[in-house]
Amino acid sequence: MTKPVPTCPHCGSQNIVKDAAARWNPVTCDWELSGVHDYETCEDCEASGNFMTSVDEEA
Ligand SMILES: [Zn+2]
Repeated sequence: MTKPVPTCPHCGSQNIVKDAAARWNPVTCDWELSGVHDYETCEDCEASGNFMTSVDEEA
């Protein structure tokens, strides 16, 4: 099985960044990733939205 790479539909770039949320953990005194949002931004052409449908998230 090969995992599809998120690709920008506008410019074909794979420099995609994903929105995420981090929550402060007072025990470890560090930021921990608490969730990843369904929102992407292309670093090359700055297109953004839910457009990375090529990613197969099913097991
Ligand atoms: Zn792009």
